[in-house]
Amino acid sequence: MKKPLIVANWKLYVTDLESAVISAKAVARAAGKTGADLVICPPTPFISNVAKAVGGKGIAVGAQASSVAEGEKHTGETTAEMLRSAGASYVIVGHSERRAEGEDGEKIAVLLEDAVAHKLVSILCIGEKMRDQGGEHFAVLETQLRDGLSRLSSKDAKRLVVAYEPVWAIGKSAADAMDTRALEETILYIRKVLAELLGRAPALSAPILYGGSVEPANAQELMSAGVSGFLVGHASVEPSSLIAIAKASFTKSNNGTKKR
Ligand code: PEP
Repeated sequence: MKKPLIVANWKLYVTDLESAVISAKAVARAAGKTGADLVICPPTPFISNVAKAVGGKGIAVGAQASSVAEGEKHTGETTAEMLRSAGASYVIVGHSERRAEGEDGEKIAVLLEDAVAHKLVSILCIGEKMRDQGGEHFAVLETQLRDGLSRLSSKDAKRLVVAYEPVWAIGKSAADAMDTRALEETILYIRKVLAELLGRAPALSAPILYGGSVEPANAQELMSAGVSGFLVGHASVEPSSLIAIAKASFTKSNNGTKKR
Protein backbone atom coordinates (compact mmCIF):
# COMPACT_ATOMS: atom_id res chain seq x y z
CA MET A 1 0.00 0.00 0.00
CA LYS A 2 1.40 3.39 -1.02
CA LYS A 3 1.64 5.97 1.76
CA PRO A 4 -0.72 8.92 1.48
CA LEU A 5 0.95 12.06 0.16
CA ILE A 6 0.19 15.24 2.10
CA VAL A 7 1.37 18.52 0.58
CA ALA A 8 1.31 21.70 2.68
CA ASN A 9 0.78 24.85 0.63
CA TRP A 10 1.76 27.62 3.01
CA LYS A 11 0.92 30.29 0.41
CA LEU A 12 1.71 33.62 2.11
CA TYR A 13 0.36 32.54 5.50
CA VAL A 14 3.92 32.32 6.82
CA THR A 15 5.60 35.67 6.41
CA ASP A 16 8.88 35.43 8.30
CA LEU A 17 11.79 33.06 8.08
CA GLU A 18 12.00 32.30 11.78
CA SER A 19 8.35 31.14 11.97
CA ALA A 20 8.82 29.05 8.81
CA VAL A 21 11.80 27.23 10.29
CA ILE A 22 10.14 26.71 13.69
CA SER A 23 7.03 25.24 12.03
CA ALA A 24 9.06 23.05 9.68
CA LYS A 25 11.04 21.64 12.60
CA ALA A 26 7.84 20.93 14.53
CA VAL A 27 6.43 19.05 11.53
CA ALA A 28 9.70 17.15 11.11
CA ARG A 29 9.65 15.96 14.74
CA ALA A 30 6.23 14.34 14.30
CA ALA A 31 6.25 13.36 10.62
CA GLY A 32 7.74 9.90 11.11
CA LYS A 33 4.79 8.86 13.25
CA THR A 34 2.12 9.80 10.72
CA GLY A 35 2.55 7.00 8.14
CA ALA A 36 2.24 9.61 5.36
CA ASP A 37 4.75 11.26 3.03
CA LEU A 38 4.88 14.98 3.67
CA VAL A 39 5.90 17.87 1.44
CA ILE A 40 6.12 21.45 2.71
CA CYS A 41 5.80 24.26 0.15
CA PRO A 42 6.87 27.46 1.92
CA PRO A 43 7.18 30.86 0.24
CA THR A 44 10.16 30.79 -2.14
CA PRO A 45 12.64 32.82 -0.01
CA PHE A 46 12.28 30.27 2.81
CA ILE A 47 12.83 27.11 0.74
CA SER A 48 16.51 26.74 1.46
CA ASN A 49 16.20 27.16 5.24
CA VAL A 50 13.12 24.95 5.45
CA ALA A 51 14.96 22.28 3.45
CA LYS A 52 17.84 22.44 5.93
CA ALA A 53 15.43 22.33 8.88
CA VAL A 54 13.71 19.15 7.68
CA GLY A 55 16.75 17.64 5.94
CA GLY A 56 17.14 13.92 6.48
CA LYS A 57 13.81 13.66 8.33
CA GLY A 58 11.84 12.18 5.47
CA ILE A 59 10.03 15.40 4.51
CA ALA A 60 10.37 16.89 1.06
CA VAL A 61 10.24 20.57 0.24
CA GLY A 62 8.40 22.07 -2.69
CA ALA A 63 7.92 25.44 -4.33
CA GLN A 64 4.54 27.09 -4.80
CA ALA A 65 5.40 28.10 -8.36
CA SER A 66 8.30 28.38 -10.78
CA SER A 67 8.97 30.40 -13.87
CA VAL A 68 10.48 29.59 -17.21
CA ALA A 69 13.05 32.11 -18.30
CA GLU A 70 15.84 31.55 -20.77
CA GLY A 71 18.93 33.68 -20.55
CA GLU A 72 19.87 36.11 -17.83
CA LYS A 73 17.74 39.12 -18.61
CA HIS A 74 14.60 38.34 -16.59
CA THR A 75 14.63 40.39 -13.42
CA GLY A 76 12.79 38.81 -10.53
CA GLU A 77 12.09 35.34 -11.94
CA THR A 78 12.78 32.09 -10.07
CA THR A 79 13.45 29.10 -12.29
CA ALA A 80 13.02 25.39 -11.65
CA GLU A 81 16.81 25.04 -11.74
CA MET A 82 17.17 27.58 -8.89
CA LEU A 83 14.42 25.91 -6.86
CA ARG A 84 16.13 22.56 -7.22
CA SER A 85 19.42 24.05 -6.15
CA ALA A 86 17.74 25.65 -3.08
CA GLY A 87 16.49 22.23 -1.93
CA ALA A 88 13.07 21.83 -3.55
CA SER A 89 12.11 18.51 -5.10
CA TYR A 90 8.45 19.36 -5.81
CA VAL A 91 6.70 22.32 -7.42
CA ILE A 92 3.03 23.30 -7.63
CA VAL A 93 1.98 24.12 -11.19
CA GLY A 94 -1.21 25.85 -12.27
CA HIS A 95 -2.69 26.64 -8.87
CA SER A 96 -6.09 28.31 -9.29
CA GLU A 97 -4.77 31.47 -7.62
CA ARG A 98 -2.14 31.72 -10.37
CA ARG A 99 -4.59 30.80 -13.13
CA ALA A 100 -6.68 33.72 -11.82
CA GLU A 101 -3.66 35.96 -12.41
CA GLY A 102 -3.40 34.90 -16.03
CA GLU A 103 -1.56 31.56 -16.24
CA ASP A 104 -3.27 29.78 -19.10
CA GLY A 105 -3.17 26.20 -20.34
CA GLU A 106 -0.23 26.75 -22.72
CA LYS A 107 1.86 28.48 -20.07
CA ILE A 108 1.07 25.74 -17.56
CA ALA A 109 2.15 23.07 -20.07
CA VAL A 110 5.49 24.85 -20.56
CA LEU A 111 6.00 25.24 -16.79
CA LEU A 112 5.26 21.58 -16.22
CA GLU A 113 7.57 20.44 -19.00
CA ASP A 114 10.36 22.62 -17.64
CA ALA A 115 9.88 21.55 -14.01
CA VAL A 116 9.94 17.88 -14.95
CA ALA A 117 13.04 18.43 -17.11
CA HIS A 118 14.70 19.83 -13.98
CA LYS A 119 13.68 16.73 -12.05
CA LEU A 120 11.06 18.41 -9.90
CA VAL A 121 7.94 16.40 -9.15
CA SER A 122 5.17 18.58 -10.56
CA ILE A 123 1.85 18.93 -8.77
CA LEU A 124 -0.56 19.95 -11.51
CA CYS A 125 -3.60 21.68 -10.03
CA ILE A 126 -6.91 21.43 -11.83
CA GLY A 127 -10.38 22.35 -10.69
CA GLU A 128 -13.63 23.90 -11.82
CA LYS A 129 -14.86 27.27 -10.59
CA MET A 130 -18.37 25.91 -10.08
CA ARG A 131 -20.47 22.79 -10.49
CA ASP A 132 -23.77 22.45 -12.25
CA GLN A 133 -26.29 19.68 -12.78
CA GLY A 134 -25.31 19.38 -16.44
CA GLY A 135 -21.81 18.17 -15.58
CA GLU A 136 -20.01 21.00 -17.41
CA HIS A 137 -17.25 20.76 -14.80
CA PHE A 138 -16.05 17.47 -16.29
CA ALA A 139 -15.30 19.23 -19.56
CA VAL A 140 -13.37 21.91 -17.65
CA LEU A 141 -11.25 19.27 -15.94
CA GLU A 142 -10.59 17.44 -19.19
CA THR A 143 -9.44 20.64 -20.90
CA GLN A 144 -7.16 21.56 -18.01
CA LEU A 145 -5.61 18.08 -18.08
CA ARG A 146 -5.22 18.02 -21.87
CA ASP A 147 -3.64 21.47 -21.93
CA GLY A 148 -1.46 21.01 -18.85
CA LEU A 149 -0.11 17.62 -19.93
CA SER A 150 0.27 18.42 -23.62
CA ARG A 151 4.07 18.56 -23.38
CA LEU A 152 4.57 15.69 -20.93
CA SER A 153 5.71 12.31 -22.23
CA SER A 154 4.47 9.08 -20.68
CA LYS A 155 7.98 8.34 -19.43
CA ASP A 156 8.06 11.63 -17.49
CA ALA A 157 4.72 10.88 -15.89
CA LYS A 158 6.55 9.34 -12.94
CA ARG A 159 7.22 12.94 -11.88
CA LEU A 160 3.55 13.91 -12.04
CA VAL A 161 1.07 14.42 -9.23
CA VAL A 162 -2.40 15.74 -10.02
CA ALA A 163 -4.18 17.86 -7.42
CA TYR A 164 -7.91 18.19 -7.92
CA GLU A 165 -8.91 21.44 -6.27
CA PRO A 166 -12.43 22.65 -6.95
CA VAL A 167 -12.05 26.41 -6.74
CA TRP A 168 -15.40 26.83 -4.96
CA ALA A 169 -14.15 24.69 -2.07
CA ILE A 170 -10.82 26.45 -1.45
CA GLY A 171 -10.12 28.48 1.66
CA LYS A 172 -13.31 27.70 3.56
CA SER A 173 -13.94 25.24 6.39
CA ALA A 174 -14.40 21.47 6.65
CA ALA A 175 -18.17 21.78 6.23
CA ASP A 176 -17.66 23.40 2.80
CA ALA A 177 -15.34 20.73 1.38
CA MET A 178 -16.54 18.51 -1.39
CA ASP A 179 -19.04 15.75 -0.83
CA THR A 180 -17.25 12.37 -0.70
CA ARG A 181 -19.42 10.67 -3.34
CA ALA A 182 -19.01 13.49 -5.83
CA LEU A 183 -15.28 13.45 -5.12
CA GLU A 184 -15.04 9.72 -5.76
CA GLU A 185 -16.79 10.12 -9.10
CA THR A 186 -14.48 12.99 -10.06
CA ILE A 187 -11.33 11.07 -9.15
CA LEU A 188 -12.45 8.16 -11.37
CA TYR A 189 -13.07 10.61 -14.18
CA ILE A 190 -9.63 12.19 -13.79
CA ARG A 191 -7.99 8.73 -13.90
CA LYS A 192 -9.90 7.91 -17.07
CA VAL A 193 -8.69 11.10 -18.78
CA LEU A 194 -5.14 10.48 -17.55
CA ALA A 195 -5.26 6.99 -19.06
CA GLU A 196 -6.30 8.47 -22.41
CA LEU A 197 -3.53 11.04 -22.29
CA LEU A 198 -0.64 9.10 -20.77
CA GLY A 199 -1.53 5.41 -21.03
CA ARG A 200 -2.96 3.09 -18.44
CA ALA A 201 0.12 2.34 -16.31
CA PRO A 202 1.20 5.97 -15.74
CA ALA A 203 -2.43 6.93 -15.13
CA LEU A 204 -2.79 4.29 -12.45
CA SER A 205 0.43 5.20 -10.69
CA ALA A 206 0.09 9.01 -10.71
CA PRO A 207 -1.07 10.19 -7.27
CA ILE A 208 -4.30 12.21 -7.38
CA LEU A 209 -4.69 14.54 -4.42
CA TYR A 210 -7.72 16.48 -3.30
CA GLY A 211 -7.47 20.08 -2.12
CA GLY A 212 -10.16 22.42 -0.84
CA SER A 213 -10.87 22.99 2.84
CA VAL A 214 -9.23 19.82 4.10
CA GLU A 215 -8.97 19.97 7.87
CA PRO A 216 -8.33 17.37 10.60
CA ALA A 217 -12.11 17.00 10.97
CA ASN A 218 -12.79 15.82 7.41
CA ALA A 219 -9.51 14.26 6.25
CA GLN A 220 -10.47 10.68 7.07
CA GLU A 221 -13.85 10.94 5.37
CA LEU A 222 -12.39 12.54 2.24
CA MET A 223 -9.72 9.82 1.95
CA SER A 224 -12.49 7.27 1.51
CA ALA A 225 -13.18 8.81 -1.92
CA GLY A 226 -10.06 7.06 -3.23
CA VAL A 227 -7.69 10.02 -3.27
CA SER A 228 -3.93 9.48 -2.81
CA GLY A 229 -3.65 12.29 -0.28
CA PHE A 230 -4.22 16.02 0.02
CA LEU A 231 -2.97 19.44 -0.98
CA VAL A 232 -3.71 21.49 2.11
CA GLY A 233 -3.78 25.27 2.39
CA HIS A 234 -4.91 27.05 5.55
CA ALA A 235 -4.97 23.94 7.74
CA SER A 236 -1.35 23.11 6.88
CA VAL A 237 0.15 26.14 8.57
CA GLU A 238 -0.31 24.99 12.16
CA PRO A 239 2.02 21.95 12.54
CA SER A 240 -0.35 20.02 14.83
CA SER A 241 -3.18 20.43 12.30
CA LEU A 242 -1.00 19.24 9.39
CA ILE A 243 0.15 16.24 11.42
CA ALA A 244 -3.44 15.41 12.40
CA ILE A 245 -4.45 15.45 8.72
CA ALA A 246 -1.51 13.20 7.81
CA LYS A 247 -2.38 10.73 10.58
CA ALA A 248 -6.06 10.66 9.61
CA SER A 249 -5.14 10.01 5.96
CA PHE A 250 -2.90 7.13 6.88
CA THR A 251 -5.51 5.61 9.16
CA LYS A 252 -8.12 5.67 6.40
CA SER A 253 -5.82 4.40 3.66
CA ASN A 254 -5.11 1.39 5.87
CA ASN A 255 -8.78 0.68 6.54
CA GLY A 256 -8.54 1.81 10.08
CA THR A 257 -5.60 -0.37 11.00
CA LYS A 258 -2.80 1.69 12.41
CA LYS A 259 0.47 -0.11 11.79
CA ARG A 260 2.42 1.35 14.63
C1 PEP B 1 -5.17 25.52 -1.78
O1 PEP B 1 -5.32 26.72 -2.02
O2 PEP B 1 -4.35 24.83 -2.41
C2 PEP B 1 -5.97 24.92 -0.72
C3 PEP B 1 -6.21 23.65 -0.77
O3 PEP B 1 -6.44 25.79 0.25
P1 PEP B 1 -7.36 25.43 1.49
O4 PEP B 1 -6.89 24.13 2.08
O5 PEP B 1 -7.19 26.57 2.40
O6 PEP B 1 -8.75 25.27 0.96
